[in-house]
Amino acid sequence: MVPSKDSETDLIRQERARVLAEMRTVQEDLVDIGSRLEKNRPDFGLGRGGSQIYEWEMNLARRDSLRQKLAHLQEALQRIDTGQYGICIRCGQPISPERLALLPSTKLCAKCARELEKQRHGRRKRH
Ligand SMILES: [Zn+2]
Repeated sequence: MVPSKDSETDLIRQERARVLAEMRTVQEDLVDIGSRLEKNRPDFGLGRGGSQIYEWEMNLARRDSLRQKLAHLQEALQRIDTGQYGICIRCGQPISPERLALLPSTKLCAKCARELEKQRHGRRKRH
């Protein structure tokens, strides 16, 4: 039998597996989109092919958001490895699994996120 780390719960192990699986999917999408961008490089000089350029730009935007997602997943993985995953950095309370499933890289529990959002909102309103 493999001895497991005391601090590592089943939930954390599941989360790591889930984050790793999601990272693989995102990486595959990135490779796919990278080759599509390479193949369908539009000719910007010809003054035609508006839809081609549109598609190109859509793919560029998608690649950016995938890269961002990958960075978030990597951050989540780091937090899993350092034992900070699923703990709110503001109040130190555990973050609900539902929230983590939705936002794997979140550092705030739902309550703190709401409060911070309210503060931001309040500041915006006063201006
Ligand atoms: Zn909190």
